[in-house]
Amino acid sequence: MRIAIASGKGGTGKTTVAVNLAYLATSKGLRVVYVDCDVEEPNGHIFLKPGITLSRPVGRLYPQVDEKKCTRCGLCGEICQYSAIVCVAGTVIVYPELCHACGGCLLVCRAGAIREGTRKTGRLEAGQSGPLQFVRGVLEVGEAMSAPLVRRVKASAPEADLVIVDSPPGTSCAVIESVRGSDFVALVTEPTPFGLSDLQLAVEMVRALHLPFGVVINRSDSGDRETRAYCRRHGIDVLAEIPDNRRVAEAYSRGVLACEAVPEFRERLEDLLTRLAGCEAQR
Ligand code: SF4
Ligand code: SF4
Repeated sequence: MRIAIASGKGGTGKTTVAVNLAYLATSKGLRVVYVDCDVEEPNGHIFLKPGITLSRPVGRLYPQVDEKKCTRCGLCGEICQYSAIVCVAGTVIVYPELCHACGGCLLVCRAGAIREGTRKTGRLEAGQSGPLQFVRGVLEVGEAMSAPLVRRVKASAPEADLVIVDSPPGTSCAVIESVRGSDFVALVTEPTPFGLSDLQLAVEMVRALHLPFGVVINRSDSGDRETRAYCRRHGIDVLAEIPDNRRVAEAYSRGVLACEAVPEFRERLEDLLTRLAGCEAQR
């Protein structure tokens, strides 16, 4: 089973839920992989403290033009949908950071002036935290496109009984890539107007992708009742309500797994794990 833990906005407690769920699932005797797809700011390692046994660069293809062979025909610029290669004033200019590596320019270049180079866009790391397997991606600073790295990170997750994908926050291409193919998506939110607004976007996203999903309301005793009312109106399952707890925040600030430090938080997450297993059983 592959469960994505996502949220419409940052700061809702998504990673706290993801790492603790993964950790708790291992205590049930399951083979579990935690996959940190929040590649712009991965922080699951702070809590899981894995021993990293694999670290390798991830690259992306981009066109390199041989000036001597180029006839300045301009076909490469015409085919590129992303303005990543342009032919202006008799010169071909390539913007590698805009390139989606579709290979279109290479195909249309009759002069054979284009070859593919590779540029580093990030790093893939894997390791072990006790019985839990750990995979994460780290995007290169300044790199604009994170979705390709997310795809590589997901594909690198080993076979397991349960794969927990820690998605990036928001509803960007990288988030869509991270939740795509999941058996279930848990959307973590907080009961505030901002939280609800971003939750609504996240719900539209998972519905457009036809993915089964439910909502986890974090810090459920703060804020207002609007999130619950919204879920009720739209027939959305609230999988768990996790009350605000200062000791959870303290554990977070120390880089400690909250389910180790706060028994009542552990109970909520145990219940959530059971709910998620039930959701899978109903499918
Ligand atoms: S398609 Fe090839 S030959 Fe034509 S402008 Fe581009 S690089 Fe030069
Ligand atoms: S590989 Fe595709 S996206 Fe990249 S420059 Fe060529 S046509 Fe544009």
